Amino acid sequence: EAKKFGRNRYHYFTPDMQAQAQARMQRIGDLRLALSRRELCLRYQPIVDLRSGKIRKAEALVRWQHPSLGLLSPQEFIPLAEETGLIVELGNWICEQALEQTASWRRTLDPAFQISINTSPVQLCDNGTRLDAWLTWLDRLQLPGSALALEITESILMSEAASERLLAIQSMGLEVSLDDFGTGYSTLSYLKKFDIDYLKIDRSFVQSLSPGSSDFVLCEAIILMAHKLGIQVVAEGIETDTQHRYLVEMGCDYGQGYRYSKPVSADEFERLVAGIHRAGNGN
Ligand code: C2E
Ligand code: MG
Ligand code: MG
Ligand code: MG
Repeated sequence: EAKKFGRNRYHYFTPDMQAQAQARMQRIGDLRLALSRRELCLRYQPIVDLRSGKIRKAEALVRWQHPSLGLLSPQEFIPLAEETGLIVELGNWICEQALEQTASWRRTLDPAFQISINTSPVQLCDNGTRLDAWLTWLDRLQLPGSALALEITESILMSEAASERLLAIQSMGLEVSLDDFGTGYSTLSYLKKFDIDYLKIDRSFVQSLSPGSSDFVLCEAIILMAHKLGIQVVAEGIETDTQHRYLVEMGCDYGQGYRYSKPVSADEFERLVAGIHRAGNGN
């Protein structure tokens, strides 16, 4: 018994794990400073109206320009931000930043332009996420609630606290987009319980679309079901012309993916919109 315990203890303190724990503490410390050091930035990925071929919306995706590790993707720090509660401060910054950009683009690009931001369950449930602050920013920027769509994941809908928050959010006029649809613990009853505006088909369904494949059938069925429920559909991860064509034929409303553009800086985004408009429909 004691031997076993000893061995476990030994394993717990391997130099490897100690180094890992140290790296983790280091990264948490860095993340705490990232905001004040202005190391975080947003990239914008176009969301294309599949009927007109025009860029109507964008999803804001956060990046961290780490002083020594280079550009980090959200998977490399969002989970850490969630565990430490830093996600609240980070999420507020993302929201304010995205709204300022949107206000500017509604003046220069498209008066109906909408930005989507990702929200994590931790962030939505936390009391530090001041929805009244979000309202104040919207007001100050003279933006209607519909200028902002919140991307939520299916897991949010399972928690009581979050679903209350969601109702509050909807009463502010914000739109709600169900992200990565089909990959979580989905139950279709959420679609009738919550008033969802957009459903984003996860890119794993879009990847191998070919007539007769089960992914093809699922995409068709999701689009049909969503439309009957008055929900619009965004297909994620469209990379090829073929995927684009199939989804257009299925009547999918919006498309997002490398076929149109990777997530880009605000400047590049403006050039992209200008270019596509100059070239006509870009379809
Ligand atoms: P997501 O919300 O599903 O975002 C889509 C991800 O797919 C993005 O990765 C995007 O770059 C990538 N993507 C887009 N088109 C394509 C494509 O055609 N092919 C492929 N292979 N990938 C494509 P990214 O930016 O690394 O973000 C990953 C995830 O991190 C996001 O998944 C989202 O869940 C989370 N995330 C990103 N920004 C934020 C944020 O500001 N707050 C929170 N809470 N989470 C965020
Ligand atoms: Mg998303
Ligand atoms: Mg998504
Ligand atoms: Mg997704």
